[in-house]
Amino acid sequence: MKYILALDQGTTSSRAILFDEQGKVAGKAYQEFRQIYPRAGWVEHDPKDILGTQVGVVAEALVRAGADISDVEAIGITNQRETTLVWDAKTGKPVYNAIVWQCRRTADMCERLRKEGLEDFIYKKTGLVADAYFSATKIKWILDNVSGARARAERGELRFGTVDTYLLYSLTRGRVFATDYTNAARTMLFNIHTLEWDEDLLKLFGIPRSMLPKVQPSGSLFGVTDSRLLGREIEIRAVAGDQQASLFGHLCTHKGQIKTTYGTGCFLLMNAGDEPAESKNGLITSLGAGTGDKPPYVLEGSVFVGGAAVQWLRDEMKLISSAAESEECANKVSSSEGVYMVPAFTGLGAPYWDASARGAVVGITRGTRREHLVRAALEGIAYQVSDIVRAMQRDVGVKISEMRVDGGAAANNFLMQFQSDILDCRVLRPRIIETTGLGVAYLAGLGCGMWSGEEELEKMNGVERAFSPDMSENDRAARLKGWRSAVNAARQN
Ligand code: ADP
Repeated sequence: MKYILALDQGTTSSRAILFDEQGKVAGKAYQEFRQIYPRAGWVEHDPKDILGTQVGVVAEALVRAGADISDVEAIGITNQRETTLVWDAKTGKPVYNAIVWQCRRTADMCERLRKEGLEDFIYKKTGLVADAYFSATKIKWILDNVSGARARAERGELRFGTVDTYLLYSLTRGRVFATDYTNAARTMLFNIHTLEWDEDLLKLFGIPRSMLPKVQPSGSLFGVTDSRLLGREIEIRAVAGDQQASLFGHLCTHKGQIKTTYGTGCFLLMNAGDEPAESKNGLITSLGAGTGDKPPYVLEGSVFVGGAAVQWLRDEMKLISSAAESEECANKVSSSEGVYMVPAFTGLGAPYWDASARGAVVGITRGTRREHLVRAALEGIAYQVSDIVRAMQRDVGVKISEMRVDGGAAANNFLMQFQSDILDCRVLRPRIIETTGLGVAYLAGLGCGMWSGEEELEKMNGVERAFSPDMSENDRAARLKGWRSAVNAARQN
């Protein structure tokens, strides 16, 4: 048996997943690592923890699969996006901890960029909103705050990379200094139209060109691992940021195809085709993963509070004892009886972008019971996803008829059925829901010839369950109207 090894380096854990020739998970392992919070709002990772856990889980996944490292045909890497590392070109030694995407230390810098009216300039080149998430201001922070870093960078002695680049560099012992389009597109330094690092942005942030890696298609040969690390030389044939890897794992390779991951938050990505769809609704335009020389464009939107609303019902409200119980509870009543819950705990994202909004429950009567509230919370997740899908439809000018799903809360059948009803589109849940790892495994497997093409991949991971819309147009319109007034209530703070 031959395998593809997917390395999935996430924000809280490193995972290794071995996929066999049928695309099934043959073995997997994961290890959590330390989150470092030096100050309120700051988040860092120790690069040694990232690399150590990622290399460590490979052996465990092999053992679980009963496989040998010599059975691995190729490696694919997928990773937490935007997280920023800077290291010494000669020694490979980082000059500072990895600054994690969540870290807000450069929020003021971004506020100044917006005040100086540079938001549109940045959006036009990168497709991104000027925010501290993205790597550019994090690199600048390191150059400005680590003693001697700027001078070393200007002498060409330092390298920057997102986590994929750092893993590539480390696994090849410094022979490969590269990234892929999907990761480059999240740095706020990459021009998504010319597909090159942008000189104007490099100047704006004061970042020397020599710090930046070569950019390649997600599905291409990046290099071979150094045998001292994994015991042998293995080709690394795919690299993609986690959300784009997941989109490819769902085989959303045509314009208008869309996936939603229902985790703590919900992450939506739509394949926007060959042209960069400009969003009029505050969505991000970015690059997707593919095998060709030119990557597809994608539109991205996220819901801040998705499954976290269910956690809140369980941990704070004590209305349910497990997340899974929410389904049974919601099914005990035939509707939420006019109750709406907007879980805007930390404000509302696209398409509202209202940081001052707060959670709201509206429509409560004397007859409202626990079941109605639980049902309203699940419906609230679906309405938020629906708001983003509708915005994407407007931006791309395509009516969506199918949406693919994954993530912890996608296990909830009530939620998936309601999502299908409220969107008036089919919701497809695949058998293998490790879609992030699967995405880079597919790319690597196509690259090394294990699989012939998308048709073969389509057959390998079928649909576990399809949900079809079963709600009248009037009913849907009435509920969406109710949701809109609930959102207005949440914004009255
Ligand atoms: P993350 O990767 O963001 O940690 P996961 O994909 O593991 O998230 O999903 C966990 C989230 O999904 C939690 O917020 C949890 O409340 C929610 N969740 C898990 N199972 C269910 C379920 N059966 N119904 C509704 N929500 C669920």
